[in-house]
Amino acid sequence: MSDCLFCKIAAGDIPSKKVYEDEQVYAFYDIDPQAPTHFLVIPKVHITSCGEITAVNSAVVAHCFEVISRVARELGMESFRVVSNCGAQAGQTVGHLHFHVLSGRDMTWPPG
Ligand code: 5GP
Ligand code: ZN
Repeated sequence: MSDCLFCKIAAGDIPSKKVYEDEQVYAFYDIDPQAPTHFLVIPKVHITSCGEITAVNSAVVAHCFEVISRVARELGMESFRVVSNCGAQAGQTVGHLHFHVLSGRDMTWPPG
């Protein structure tokens, strides 16, 4: 999608601090970290949010979680939280599916 911030980041048109990349997935550190380690995992294909996942595009979502597991292992993260905000009321500010991966501090439940 031409006017999507995360499509531009995945394409390398907007710089970011890369954590991991393959043909399907891009992972990069959040510009405004909410934990000592905070990165985002996104599919390169434009999917607006968790609300747009279907049988047609869900394989890349499964792959996102493989990447989360792999990167967490590589970074030595024993405990971490994965969050995906879906829709404005839930706190989504960028309309391209992304999984926040947060680690390195105590976390509370329920989330705010
Ligand atoms: P959301 O609010 O949609 O759940 O998450 C969007 C996240 O993207 C936020 O945590 C925000 O800090 C991050 N973000 C927004 N713009 C940029 C950017 O240009 N670069 C990076 N690395 N992160 C961004
Ligand atoms: Zn996009």
